Amino acid sequence: MSEAMRKAAWLNGPDRNVTRFGERAKFREGLYRLSPKTYAWMVPNGSWGETNFGLIDCGGKSIVIDTGWDLRCAHEFLDGAADLLARSPVDSVINTHADGDHCWGNQLFGNVPIIATHACIGHMHHVEPKTMQLLARAARVMKILPVAGIDVLGHYVSAMVAPYDFTGIHIVAPNQGFSGERTITLNGIDVVLMEMGPAHTPGDAMIFVPCEKVLYAGDIVFTSSTPVVWAGPVANITGALRKVLSLDADVIVAGHGPLATRADVELQLAYWELIQEELDRRRRQGRRADAAAADLLLSAKFQATPFAAWDSPERLLRNAQALYEEWGERPARLPEKLARLDTLRRQGLLALRLPEATPQVMHRR
Ligand SMILES: [Zn+2]
Repeated sequence: MSEAMRKAAWLNGPDRNVTRFGERAKFREGLYRLSPKTYAWMVPNGSWGETNFGLIDCGGKSIVIDTGWDLRCAHEFLDGAADLLARSPVDSVINTHADGDHCWGNQLFGNVPIIATHACIGHMHHVEPKTMQLLARAARVMKILPVAGIDVLGHYVSAMVAPYDFTGIHIVAPNQGFSGERTITLNGIDVVLMEMGPAHTPGDAMIFVPCEKVLYAGDIVFTSSTPVVWAGPVANITGALRKVLSLDADVIVAGHGPLATRADVELQLAYWELIQEELDRRRRQGRRADAAAADLLLSAKFQATPFAAWDSPERLLRNAQALYEEWGERPARLPEKLARLDTLRRQGLLALRLPEATPQVMHRR
């Protein structure tokens, strides 16, 4: 367990020693006190949908940050934090971005204001719960179609969504937008919202509580898990990571994985720097994004880095695609939704070449 996790006090939560993907849990799941007024609901090990939530207790009123991928995830948090929320009912919710694993529990929070960047609000419907239900069903059929990697896509997606249930979810979009920076003051406590997107997604935000020196970084920071760039440019992610390092934060809550230290944030920066350099070199040698990602990922040099042990290392493929686009390479001409599926298919193929990577159910057949 990391130093940052040891310092936080575990209060309450499910008593499980395996993750949703059947891995050994590297930290206890549940509600942690980070400082007198700040809390986090931490979900091991930080893989797909294993999303951390934040909770700021402003004395009689509280602010919740992110709401999980399905209603079960959101209910687990609400049950685990019930005592605190009885003392300090939810005053408002903040969504760090529009990926489902951060906002599909919104409907369980009643009529409180939900705050996000304007760009996040505009991106809320990029995937619909119904589409995920259909995809989960289709993936089970795809698994038996050994043509053009469709079976691999089926396996990869089935394993990814197996722990989740997308029934009964309707998207509740945030109803208070902001751009740039906004400070909310609740019972005298300042909570600073900072727009960081487009970076991981078009509408990322981080939330800083200066008096407690606690930062909720959303998916700008991953810990022990491979970050991914869906929107970009990558320079905005590295810029946001430098912003994290510039803040006076003692505790950094990553969107996925254990509490981060400054060293973890520096390691994320080193990852982005290494892959940009290594992929660019391969591009100059005439390699396409897929081939370059596979070659780098399987190289002795990469395998000797700490990044090789991170969860879902095959996400390097998406990162390579995004960087190649930034460098002016035209992506395959596919409609956006098909392109996303094709990316997952290619990641699924790469994942099978890394049988030791986690979550193992996505890397072994
Ligand atoms: Zn996420």
